Amino acid sequence: QRTGYAIVGLGRLALGEILPAMGKSKYSKPVALVSGDREKAHKIAAQYGIKPTSVYDYTTYDQLASNPEVKAVYIVLPNSLHEEFVVRGAKAGKHILCEKPMATSVKACEHMIAACKTASVKLMIAYRSQYEPYDKALVKMIRSGKFGTLKQFISTNSQNQGDPTQWRLKKSLAGGGCMPDVGVYCLNAARFLSGEEPTEVFAAIDQPKDDPRFTEVEASCQAILKFPSGFTATFNTAYNAHKSQFLRVEGTEGFAELNPAFAYHGIKMKFSLYEPQLKLEMAHEPAIEEKDQFAEEMDHFSLCIQKDLQPHTPGEEGLQDQRITDAIYESARTGKPIRLQPPPSPTRGP
Ligand code: NAD
Repeated sequence: QRTGYAIVGLGRLALGEILPAMGKSKYSKPVALVSGDREKAHKIAAQYGIKPTSVYDYTTYDQLASNPEVKAVYIVLPNSLHEEFVVRGAKAGKHILCEKPMATSVKACEHMIAACKTASVKLMIAYRSQYEPYDKALVKMIRSGKFGTLKQFISTNSQNQGDPTQWRLKKSLAGGGCMPDVGVYCLNAARFLSGEEPTEVFAAIDQPKDDPRFTEVEASCQAILKFPSGFTATFNTAYNAHKSQFLRVEGTEGFAELNPAFAYHGIKMKFSLYEPQLKLEMAHEPAIEEKDQFAEEMDHFSLCIQKDLQPHTPGEEGLQDQRITDAIYESARTGKPIRLQPPPSPTRGP
C-alpha cells in the first residue's frame, strides 16, 4: 500500500531528490503537485504519471481537501513559507511532512504543531539524517554503550553559496543564514546521537561587511552546547567556506566519525575502540548498505499514517532545534552564554 503525497514546491530538492526517491520508496507515491509554475508542474506531472487535474497552484492548494487520493503533503518551499502551507495543509485534512528547518521562529513552530493537533493530522519534520543507515547504526552503537559514556561531539557542515540574490540569503525567507539551513544538521545530530538536550549554548557568528551575499544573514556560525551529563557539542557551519561535512563523537571507551556526514550519498563511518583482550586500539570501517534517505524518511511517515503511529521526528523535534537556534543567535548578539530550559516532553517518537 502506497500513501499518496502532494509535493508542494517544485524547486531543486523536490525535483532532484524527493520525486526521484518516490520511485525507490515502498509505501509512498506522488499523486499531486503544487507549484507557482503551471507549465513546469504539468510537465513534471506527465513525467510521474500524475493526473493533470491533480496539479494545483498556491492559491488552489486548499482544494486538496477534496482530493481523496492525497493523504499527505510534503512541504518543500523556502523556510518562512512552511508555516502557512503546513497550517493550510492541516486545515485541508492532510498529514504533513515538512522540510527542515521547520520554520523561522518558535512562534511559527508552535502554531504549526497546534494546527496539526487541532486538525488531527500528523506532522513530521524531514530530518533525513535520522533515517539514514549509518546515522541509525551509530545511534545503536552509542546506546549499546560501545563507546562508553559520551563526552564530546564535534562537527562541521559548510558550503560556499553562490548567487547573492537567492532566497537562502534573504532573512525574511530563510530566517537566517548557514545556521538554520546547514548548521541545523550538526545541531540535530548532537541531540539525536547523545539523546540529550542542551542546557546552555555559547555561540559566535560572522557577517562580513564586504561580501554582498551576507548583507542580511550570517556567513558562518560556531556554537558550543553543554548537556546535563557533561557531554559537550561543538560545531561550525559556513556559507563562505569550501564544502565540508563531518561529525565525530568521542566517548570514554572509543570514538566514531562520519566523514562525509549529512551528504545525500557516500556517507562513510570509522570508529576506534580499545580492545582490552588484545591490549590494542582497533580501527574499524564498517560497510553499511546505502539507502535513499528521502525514500526511507517518506516511507517512515507513510507507515506512521497507515498504522496510526507517532513519527520519529515530529514537529516538537523541529521546535526544539528552533529554540536552540534562537539561543545561538542571542548568545552571538550578547556575547554571553544562554541557558536553555529542557523541552517539556521527549521531542522524538519511537
Ligand atoms: P529552491 O529554491 O530550489 O526551491 C524552492 C521552491 O519554492 C521553488 O520552486 C520556488 O519557485 C518556490 N517558491 C514559492 N514561493 C517562493 C518565494 N516566495 N520565494 C522563493 N521561492 C519560492 O529551494 P530548495 O533547495 O528546493 O529548498 C526548499 C526547502 O527544502 C527548504 O526549506 C530547504 O531548507 C529544504 N531543503 C532540504 C534539504 C534536505 O537535504 N533535507 C536539501 C535542500 C533543501
